[in-house]
Amino acid sequence: MRRTFLLFGLLLAFSLSAIAQQKLSVHWEELTAPDFAQAISRSGGTCLLPFGIIEKHGPHLPLGSDLFQARYAALHAAEQEYAVVFPEYYFGQIFEAQHQPGTVAYSSHLQLELLQETTDEMARNGCKKVIIVNGHGGNEYLLPFFAQSQLEKQHDYVVYVLGLVEPPPGGPAKKTSVDMHAGESETSSMMIARPDLVHIDRAGSQSGADQARLQLPGNLYTAIWWYARFPNHYSGEGAAATRELGQYEMDNWVKAIVNSIKAVKADQTSLRLQNEFFEKAKHPLDT
Ligand SMILES: [Zn+2]
Repeated sequence: MRRTFLLFGLLLAFSLSAIAQQKLSVHWEELTAPDFAQAISRSGGTCLLPFGIIEKHGPHLPLGSDLFQARYAALHAAEQEYAVVFPEYYFGQIFEAQHQPGTVAYSSHLQLELLQETTDEMARNGCKKVIIVNGHGGNEYLLPFFAQSQLEKQHDYVVYVLGLVEPPPGGPAKKTSVDMHAGESETSSMMIARPDLVHIDRAGSQSGADQARLQLPGNLYTAIWWYARFPNHYSGEGAAATRELGQYEMDNWVKAIVNSIKAVKADQTSLRLQNEFFEKAKHPLDT
């Protein structure tokens, strides 16, 4: 009889700890401190930093659209392949929308310093593999530079950047050809991420047409190009959006993040080579 009780007690303890394991939130800020330690161990030290922005998204989408979409995709991916997801982060590059209401544009040095301190703090808490999941076009310049600048001085962690994910061909046919910001694709994705904040009836109240006001060769970059083409900070036609296209784009984004989490968990090489590199960088003449 006593043995049966013991066995029953053990089984109960096992199943309770299994339930506790299953119920670990992927949201950093929802975990208790003891659960956070468990979450880091369960994720193999792999954490996601979904990176949004606060900027105008046409006349019909919320200012936080990129943050909502990046978090939606990252959280769904982390549910499939466990990783800890950092809280809301939107301190990126958005100078090009300063002429529009509601834009929050931090200085360039603060963007870099805050991001460095954020990944440093993540790593100090056990996130030795940080995947930045980008949700905003204007961060596509900032993030490769930030990733590259991780070779400035030695860190005990690795930063990976997943840039904007283009869905593979074969999805629902698109109706519009100009579609870079708050247009058909992005409005469709928002219909999945936050349908309650999509005001599709207002999508046609401003023009998202390409005004083509600056003629330069394609390989010659200048910052005002975006304003020259899309002064309303709107590119495309949000009214063409459908839930089907949004689901297709979101599913592919989630899949790309899941693949990244798996690859990063399996990566035993980057940190080793990073350490080897810094060891050699101390005495380059001997290399
Ligand atoms: Zn956006």
